[in-house]
Amino acid sequence: MRKVAIYGKGGIGKSTTTQNTVAGLIEMGKKVMVVGCDPKADSTRLLLGGLAQKSVLDTLREEGEDVELDDLRKMGYGGTWCVESGGPEPGVGCAGRGIITSINMLEQLGAYAPSEGLDYAFYDVLGDVVCGGFAMPIRDGKAEEIYIVVSGEMMAMYAANNICKGIMKFAQSGNVRLGGLICNSRAVDNEREMIEELAKKIGTQMISFVPRDNDVQRAEINRKTVIEWNPEVKQADAYRALAKAIDENQNFVIPKPLAIEELETLLLDYGLMEA
Ligand code: ADP
Ligand code: MG
Repeated sequence: MRKVAIYGKGGIGKSTTTQNTVAGLIEMGKKVMVVGCDPKADSTRLLLGGLAQKSVLDTLREEGEDVELDDLRKMGYGGTWCVESGGPEPGVGCAGRGIITSINMLEQLGAYAPSEGLDYAFYDVLGDVVCGGFAMPIRDGKAEEIYIVVSGEMMAMYAANNICKGIMKFAQSGNVRLGGLICNSRAVDNEREMIEELAKKIGTQMISFVPRDNDVQRAEINRKTVIEWNPEVKQADAYRALAKAIDENQNFVIPKPLAIEELETLLLDYGLMEA
C-alpha cells in the first residue's frame, strides 16, 4: 500500500485535486482510502456526493471510544473509503490533534490491514506543516510520499517551499520523501516553466500540470469529481494523466528548499519574461 499525503497552501486545490486524481486511480482499478486532515472536513465531498460524512472527532465525541471501523468511514465513488478526521470546536484546542486521534483509531480498527486490499491511502492535509499536528502524517511515517499542490502565485510558491523545509526535517529521521509538485494552474504568465524550474531547484519534478477549467466547478456543483460527472471532457484527461503519473512515479527525494532570495529571483526572472 502506498501512503500519499497532499500538502499545499489553503485554497490552492488540494481537496479538489486529490479527489479528482483518486477518481482517475479508481478507473485504473485501484482501491483507495482518502483521509481528510482538515477541520473543514470537505476532503471527500466529491467522492461521497455531498458532505455526507460525520467526522471521526464528532463520532468519538458523541459515541465514545467504543466505535467500529464502519462508524468512521463511508464508501464513496467506485468503492473508495472516505474518512474526515474533523477538528475541535473553532478556537478551542489544536486542530492537528484530530489527525493524530483519527489515524491511530483507523489503525487500531484495522483500516490498513492487508485484508482491506488498499492500494493507496491519501491524506489531504491542511497547508501548514509548521504546526505539530499537521506535520503528523509525515512525522510519524503515516505518509511516505508527498505531493505539493502549487501554482505560479507567489504565496503558493512560498508555502510549497516552507512545506519542503518540513519534509526535509522529517526525511532525515524517517522514510518520507517528496514525489513532486503538482501545478494547479492559476493561468499566471510562464507558470509551467516557472514551476518546472522551481521543482528542479528543489531537486524534484513537476509531476503534472493541471489546467484551470470551469468544468471543475460544474462537476463540483453536482457534488462529483470531473471523471464521474462527465468522463469525456478534457479536464477528466488532465486528472487521468496525474493519476497515471503518480501511479508510475519512481522519483522520490529529500527536497532542498530554496533561500527566500533564490525564490524571489525565480519569481522575478519568470514574472518579467514575455509570456
Ligand atoms: P484546498 O483543499 O487546497 O483548500 P480546494 O480543493 O477546496 O482547496 O479548492 C478551492 C476551489 O478551487 C475549489 O472549490 C475549486 O472549485 C477550485 N479549483 C481547484 N482546482 C481547480 C482547477 N484546476 N480548475 C478550476 N477550479 C479549481
Ligand atoms: Mg481542502
